[in-house]
Amino acid sequence: MAEETIFSKIIRREIPSDIIYQDDLVTAFRDISPQAPTHVLIVPNVLIPTVNDVTADHELALGRLFTVAAKIAKEEGIAEDGYRLIMNCNRHSGQEVFHIHMHLVGGRPLGPLLAK
Ligand code: AMP
Repeated sequence: MAEETIFSKIIRREIPSDIIYQDDLVTAFRDISPQAPTHVLIVPNVLIPTVNDVTADHELALGRLFTVAAKIAKEEGIAEDGYRLIMNCNRHSGQEVFHIHMHLVGGRPLGPLLAK
């Protein structure tokens, strides 16, 4: 059984956060340390620590991440200019919270993907 992170508490609304969307499968909330004018995290309600732990059972929830990302991008007014969806996995990516999450980042030009 994987250890819960702060994201489980956010999903259950046990701690404050800026939740902008929630349904039976996913929750979306604003990143506490935004890297762009729009920086939203979209997470499956079920705890999956990393992308390495994904199974076919998760396909519905993970597909929903994209549906919700597209909806939020439109609502935020960034769909036409564009945005970036990021999922980090483990050490080399810099993953900090081990409950998989999609970063939806936009509202300014983001530069080349692999620029460091
Ligand atoms: P990652 O490096 O992909 O694991 O990203 C973790 C993200 O979670 C970072 O962008 C953090 O700023 C964000 N984060 C951590 N704690 C919170 C929180 N309580 N509410 C919202 N975002 C958070």
